[in-house]
Amino acid sequence: MRVLIVEDERKISAYVKRGLEEQGYAVDAVYSGRDALDWAEAAPYDLILLDILLPELDGLGVCRELRRRGLRTPILMLTARDTVDDRVTGLDAGADDYLVKPFALKELLARLRALTRRTADATRSPVLQVADLSMDTLTHRVKRGDKTIELTAKEYAVLECLLREPERVLTRTVIAEHVWNYDVFNQSNVVDVYIRNLRRKIDDDHPVKLIHTVRGAGYRLSAVQEVEP
Ligand code: CA
Repeated sequence: MRVLIVEDERKISAYVKRGLEEQGYAVDAVYSGRDALDWAEAAPYDLILLDILLPELDGLGVCRELRRRGLRTPILMLTARDTVDDRVTGLDAGADDYLVKPFALKELLARLRALTRRTADATRSPVLQVADLSMDTLTHRVKRGDKTIELTAKEYAVLECLLREPERVLTRTVIAEHVWNYDVFNQSNVVDVYIRNLRRKIDDDHPVKLIHTVRGAGYRLSAVQEVEP
């Protein structure tokens, strides 16, 4: 995830930048509306954090101009005042959400996560696929080759986790957090049980195995075959 921060108050900018970097975001900071226009188009940002009060060209002007140019990157407006007019003006200018200053870093992070989730879902194809395994997230139909595979709701949810991030090792905790509530995901072997079921339904009849165990780490969905001990 790469974020552009547009805020002329250096202290706030530095504070937010550090906070985001600690969470693994890549962050660029610019301090004027003019620079924001240049940078926003030059790099593929996942998000733009845009303060309204900026010298010369203000945040509303920047937002309008970026949208006029067709840029669809999610924009989170920062505003100093919490008035209905401010909020409406910001959203009318093309912002996706707004946050009132001063704000807690924790809340900013939550808003950013919500925004990226929304746009990722909107732009992604409804069909997830790895090799000959496909999942239609609209109809919930899962197929391996031509064969339709019947899955329970939880099996489906576990497989969806893996399919959304192919080639990545997902820990049991990551999978569990996506699929179960807190009470259940503390039962340590619940993920293993579901993976076993999925393997039986998806991999057992095929020479090319897609679900891989990564020892001491978790599971990975991949068409790349490794020799497993
Ligand atoms: Ca400012």
